[in-house]
Amino acid sequence: MRILLCFGTRPEAIKMAPLFHELKKRPFEVKVCVTAQHREMLDQVLDFFEIRPDFDLDLMQKGQSLNQLSARILSSIDTVLHDFQPNLVLVHGDTTTSSMVALAAFHKGIKVGHVEAGLRTYNKLSPFPEEINRQITGKIADYHFAPTSWASDNLLQEKVAKENIVVTGNTVIDALRLGISKLESGYTCVDLNMVKQVVNTAKKVILITGHRRENFGAGFENLCLAIRQIATMAPDVQIIYPVHLNPNVQEPVQRILSDISNVHLIPPVDYPAFLYLMQSAYFILTDSGGVQEEAPSLGKPVLVMRDTTERPEAIEAGTVELVGTNTATIVAACLRLLQDKNEYHVRSQAHNPYGDGKASERICTFIAQIQA
Ligand code: UDP
Repeated sequence: MRILLCFGTRPEAIKMAPLFHELKKRPFEVKVCVTAQHREMLDQVLDFFEIRPDFDLDLMQKGQSLNQLSARILSSIDTVLHDFQPNLVLVHGDTTTSSMVALAAFHKGIKVGHVEAGLRTYNKLSPFPEEINRQITGKIADYHFAPTSWASDNLLQEKVAKENIVVTGNTVIDALRLGISKLESGYTCVDLNMVKQVVNTAKKVILITGHRRENFGAGFENLCLAIRQIATMAPDVQIIYPVHLNPNVQEPVQRILSDISNVHLIPPVDYPAFLYLMQSAYFILTDSGGVQEEAPSLGKPVLVMRDTTERPEAIEAGTVELVGTNTATIVAACLRLLQDKNEYHVRSQAHNPYGDGKASERICTFIAQIQA
């Protein structure tokens, strides 16, 4: 069986890396195609997980619209599908790469497997493409690898046949385990050395990340004002913030936070360094999807700067809390975690709903059965 894994962004690469290595252990012919929707951040992950793409479409261009990107993905992947003739294409999650590659495979009559299938907000009115990308990919996919039973239930409600859905856990946990074992066996790199210099292990560390377009403007402004207040009210706390390079993030962050001694603004870091930061954190304030899934298995409470999430499982479990982007709400939630030991204990000990690190194995076992 010929299998093509196709992805384009950092989070997809992190979550597809363990699956690639697991597929390689089996008697499949496996190739990787990257669209390089995020060039630099993708390459760091490929290096760390030792993946050399067989096809690199190198489609990142400054200022290209989603329609231009979609058109370029459709036309470039066509040649790859023609040359390699895969029996199965595996895509991940909710990116333009996933939906367009799934569509291109469908046009060629090639089966599609969707990794991290079934996540939903059902908010198609949102101007941001993630929900529609995951729904398009889900409509096209033949096989659905749902990370949780909640995701599987969404697919069942959409009339996806039960026999084509497998609840696997999230491959992000497989990646986390692989990554941590690499760190423990002495892996080192520039970013990792840099963050080791920054982290003060004697202090409570609040780790912050943010990049979502829906928070540009008032959202980031309010977040920064909240961080400023927390840093002043809790001077013993160390706040570490790898700041996304987008000017919409950089501008308010540099203007509001650059002069505070216990706030460390650092450039975005690669995955191994970020793993170290997550492990060192007391809790995490973020708008990232992947971080919401990683933190529970590290026992780190997460405050999410959004009003909604397509990942409700860790909220139910207790690790994750949606705090939106209101300054007072963020400050109050942070102070509760810093001051209320009991609440912190309950939140950090909550059950991890995203799996046991064997999601890739389950996906491979299912694929082997299709082949049989
Ligand atoms: N991450 C990283 N460096 C950072 C911030 C995040 O390597 O400076 C990792 C993080 O561990 C997670 C993934 O990137 O696995 C999340 O990516 P992002 O927040 O960009 O996207 P999302 O998950 O929201 O789609």
